[in-house]
Amino acid sequence: MNLKTASHTDFDAVVVGSGPNGLAAAVTLQQEGLSVLLVEGKDTIGGGLRSAELTLPGFVHDICSAIHPLAVGSPFLQSLPLGEHGLEYIFPPVAAAHPLDDGTAAALCHNLEQTAFRLGADADAYRSLIEPLVGVWPAIDTDVLGPLTFPKHPIDFARFGLKALPPAALLARLFRTKEARGLWAGMAAHSIQPLSNLATSAIGLVLMVAAHRRGWPLPKGGSQQISNALASYFRSLGGKIETGFHVGNLAQLPSARAVLFDLTPRQLLEIAGHRFSWVYRRQLNRYRHGMGVFKMDWALDGPVPFTAEAARQAGTVHLGNTLEEIAASEQATWNGAHPDRPFVLLAQQSLFDPTRAPEGKHTLWGYCHVPNGSRVDMTEAIERQIERFAPGFRDRILARHTLNTEQMEAHNPNYIGGDINGGVIDLAQLFTRPALRWSPYRTSAKGLYLCSSSTPPGAGVHGMCGFHAARQALKDEFSTEIQL
Ligand SMILES: Cc1cc2nc3c(=O)[nH]c(=O)nc-3n(C[C@H](O)[C@H](O)[C@H](O)COP(=O)(O)OP(=O)(O)OC[C@H]3O[C@@H](n4cnc5c(N)ncnc54)[C@H](O)[C@@H]3O)c2cc1C
Repeated sequence: MNLKTASHTDFDAVVVGSGPNGLAAAVTLQQEGLSVLLVEGKDTIGGGLRSAELTLPGFVHDICSAIHPLAVGSPFLQSLPLGEHGLEYIFPPVAAAHPLDDGTAAALCHNLEQTAFRLGADADAYRSLIEPLVGVWPAIDTDVLGPLTFPKHPIDFARFGLKALPPAALLARLFRTKEARGLWAGMAAHSIQPLSNLATSAIGLVLMVAAHRRGWPLPKGGSQQISNALASYFRSLGGKIETGFHVGNLAQLPSARAVLFDLTPRQLLEIAGHRFSWVYRRQLNRYRHGMGVFKMDWALDGPVPFTAEAARQAGTVHLGNTLEEIAASEQATWNGAHPDRPFVLLAQQSLFDPTRAPEGKHTLWGYCHVPNGSRVDMTEAIERQIERFAPGFRDRILARHTLNTEQMEAHNPNYIGGDINGGVIDLAQLFTRPALRWSPYRTSAKGLYLCSSSTPPGAGVHGMCGFHAARQALKDEFSTEIQL
């Protein structure tokens, strides 16, 4: 279909911000034959998908996102020919390992049976929690990864909802072993909030189901390759991209029937607040941001010498030992403290992707949660945690690069106070982000839309916020209904 319209405007649609959601929105609109301009404030596209040589020449580091179960499983991204535009996923043999102080480790593998078997006494509990959801996932994925509507398969959706709603700390009672409880806590801690909060189980379940359905891959060459492939496809359809174009007010933009912002509510208010109703402005002003992150990247002389074998084969490694330790660390951070033993998330891309480091050398990616706006240097605490599970790690460090919350925000203005989720994903802001409205993507001003992770389904590289926002704009401004 070619909707080519409005000759009195410069473009049919403009998208501000080239993160995965901005790119997804731009592609969705361009696929309908509109003329679309994508503008990006930085010199490189990608937002949370950028990669760079942060430490030494030849070492390619993912500055933000690293591991992509949500991208490979995204109903929208899966529908695009990104392989033809250079994207290649690599699947580590172990998706995620969870080492313990005794030298053993729990392991989340693509194979559900293998994962359950390794959990010993908790094998049955794991199967009965996860297996039914893996089965119904194709029927509910677009509803889980979208705005709150009446689900297409209500019974299957309820099956997920009933398990997703309780706090992760409560659902953990299904397990008896420290391996299963630790593994579960590490998954749920991706929600970046206390594990006693309602709906913290949702993210843990989504990540575990994703491992068993499509796996937890990393893109060959770096996360940047996902945005490069999206941009290449967008351009092949006729889309235009301008980088180094930081938008401070609406007047800077060319005229268009629809403008979609891949930004947080705070930036949106600065740029377009004068166009909004006072009710909507008030709603956006009340939007809450959560904990920040302290990010680290290392160039290493060899692989991380983990004691546990599963950790040496894993793309992702969660360091936090027991559920109790992880829960205490997340709660303390939420309360404004910097724990001595933070929960640390690591990714070992170069073990599986030789393009990331010179031969025989390796990269390591990691971060821990810190209070919003923290300037505390967590290098020592993070490296102590790694050394705890991988004695001799420090001897392999050739160079390191760190980003505190302030530097994270300078790298990407969407990370308010270092919050990488575009706003807390608690029950109150899960489906109603950024505000309780009929469509979370529409603003109160005609033609202006929000398409970032501050809209449902929230953070992660899946492009679903961008897809749904573009779909709303197509319906409102161009009388076009699209489905996946
Ligand atoms: C350390 C870290 C680790 C992560 N790990 C993972 C992971 O492993 N897997 C995963 O799925 N997700 C991960 N994430 C989360 C993921 O990166 C984000 O959820 C995702 O990038 C959000 O996409 P977005 O399109 O909404 O916004 P963003 O990716 O933040 O993109 C927003 C874009 O808008 C641009 N911009 C901002 N203001 C302006 C302006 N005024 N004018 C013009 N342009 C502007 C920014 O420069 C940026 O390019 C991680 C994030 C971080 C920081």
